[in-house]
Formats: sequence, C-alpha cells, structure tokens
Amino acid sequence: MTQDAKAPSNRPGPSVPSGGPGIGNGTAEVVLEAIGLTKHFPVRRGLRQLFSKERTAVHAVDDVHITLRRGRVVALVGESGSGKSTVARLLAQLYPRTAGDIQLHGKTITVKGGSAFRAYAARVQMIFQDPFASLNPVHTIRYHLTRALKIHHNAGKTDEDLENALRELLTRVSLTPPERYLDKFPHELSGGQRQRVAIARALGADPEALLADEPVSMLDVSIRLGVLNLLRDLKERLNLAILYITHDIASARYFADDTLVMYAGRMVEGGDSETVTQTPAHPYTRLLIDSAPDPDRLAADADPLEEDRGNGEPPSLIRPPSGCRFHPRCPMAMPRCETDLPIRLEIGDKPGHWAACWLYDEATVAAQQPGVAA
Ligand code: SF4
Repeated sequence: MTQDAKAPSNRPGPSVPSGGPGIGNGTAEVVLEAIGLTKHFPVRRGLRQLFSKERTAVHAVDDVHITLRRGRVVALVGESGSGKSTVARLLAQLYPRTAGDIQLHGKTITVKGGSAFRAYAARVQMIFQDPFASLNPVHTIRYHLTRALKIHHNAGKTDEDLENALRELLTRVSLTPPERYLDKFPHELSGGQRQRVAIARALGADPEALLADEPVSMLDVSIRLGVLNLLRDLKERLNLAILYITHDIASARYFADDTLVMYAGRMVEGGDSETVTQTPAHPYTRLLIDSAPDPDRLAADADPLEEDRGNGEPPSLIRPPSGCRFHPRCPMAMPRCETDLPIRLEIGDKPGHWAACWLYDEATVAAQQPGVAA
C-alpha cells in the first residue's frame, strides 16, 4: 500500500446518485443529458483468436453522466485517449452507444441517419478540433454557410433572405465586414478565422447545444482566447448549452461553469470549475493541475513525492485495470482500490463537488483517524 503523506483536506460525504450533483449544476433548463453512457469498440480478431470464445473490446467510455443546460458551459477534461472525444461523438449520435441513454429535453433519442439525424443535428451541433479538415478546401465560405442554412431550412425564401442570413452568421462570429470573407476559400483564412467559420456553420442550424471538441487546441496560442471569448459570448447571447472538450484544465477554469474530469473512459471528478481547479479532490485531477507549466513551481526545490506523483502511462482500455482505473499510477492507492470500483462521493462544502475515489469514503477516513484501528 502506498500512502501519500499529504492527506486530502476535503471532508468525506455521502455517495452521489446517478444523475445527481456534479453532472452539470444550476437550475437552468436541461437541454441534453447523457445517463450511464457507455461505448465499447469491438476489436477485430486475428487468425489466432478466430476460434476463441473471448470477445475483446476497447472500453472507450463507461457509465458517463453529463447534463448540459441552457446558457452554461460544461468542460470535459482529460488526457489524450481518455474517451472525451468519443463522448462528444456519442452525444452527436455519430456513433451508436453500447449502453446508456441520451435524452434531449427529457426524451430518449436514438438516431441512425437520414431525416431523423438531420432533425437531431439541427438542435445539437458539433465543432471539430481541426477547422481546416472540417471545411472543404475547394468550396468558398459562402458555399459552406449556404449549405448549412439550406439543410436546416434557415435560408429564407428569397436570395435576399439568404444573403442577409449569410451576413448575420459571419457578423455573429465577428468576421466583419462579411463581404470580405464570403467568397474566400478556407486556405485564404487564418486558423482562427477558419474556426470562426466552422462555428458560424454550426450556428446556421440554429442549435440549442454545441459540442466543441478541442476547438482551440490546433490554433496559435495568441488567438485561442479570442475564439473562447467568442464561444462564451454566443453562450450568453444565444443561451446555448455548450460542452467544451479539452486537455487543458486551465482553460476549463477560465471558460467553463462546470468541469468534469475523465480518466481512462470513466468520470473521476466533477463540480463547478472554480472548485475543481482550485481545490481538486481526485489524485488524477491534482496530477493534471500539477502538470500545467508553472514557473514558480519550476523555480522551487523539487519535492520528490510530488515528482513521483502519477508516473506511468494511461492504461490499456482493452483490459482496463480492475477497481479504480487510476490505481496503477496513484501514489495514494490502497488495497481496496485494486478490486473495488470507486463510487461517486460528495466532497467538501461546495454543493455538486464529487470524486470517484475511496479516499473520501467514510470508512477510509475513519480508519485514518489517530487511535482508530484499520
Ligand atoms: Fe487513488 Fe483511485 Fe484509490 Fe482514489 S480510488 S486513492 S484515485 S487508486
């Protein structure tokens, strides 16, 4: 058993029920909800496994709960391969789910294509990481936006209606004057301008929810803030529900109302962004925050315990670790972490702050009190 000398200060609390606190706080109207969302990708079998009964699969997403509300941003944070982009694609109904439920305004929705998918996409739009790949290089901005407006029946009846709608879309994403951009090709724009066009195209559907998958990670650092500010402005003006997927927990604090942390396909911590980033409870969230460059920390004498924290690689999702999936890397792992899957436990005094970690189980905390036998 390895026990970090620095025990967490957050008090233990009761377990959090599914769909309870930490999956998007607030009282605003719920637009989109994932309940127990699970996705396992079957692994293609080689000749050797052809006659074996064992069915292998990549456990990309397991038992994920997310609630997106009007006028709020939820950040989904984790390292590469943690399953966060798969969650976005499941919510966009680009992948069929293995288990769980997706509800739009409280009604379960499963669409596989055709007009049902178009109707769903009119309400839930996705913004991809690479704006250059998501725009066709042989077509102009006018073509991309016109197509979005027409598919979702927002182009009006006359050419003048269409022209006005195109100008309004570009104005909404601060590409002004619109005539400067309408007849350009994607390669004639900067990365930030291309991502603004991708956002304008998503707005052409007049959606209620935006699923933004690492929308600024491929942009120059100098223009990331502008695109995040644009999304925040749209959230407020259009009352959009936004899922913001990122590996950068610092940007989640700046941009998102609520933050959920994902590790190896499972949610490990959630709550309002200020609380999760300032007083992280789960050892993995603390690792993410400690991994962000900090000149003060670099200048200080290195603490060997801190240096040792979280060493190792993310696990294989074909045979994920038993119990807590973080236990092979966790400096605070206890014997039960290897066998028992942690439940969500309420943390501290902030409503909605939870962590899936046995450190906050009342029995564990009681056993650590002086004079109490383990
Ligand atoms: Fe570490 Fe997981 Fe155990 Fe919590 S439950 S102490 S994160 S191994």
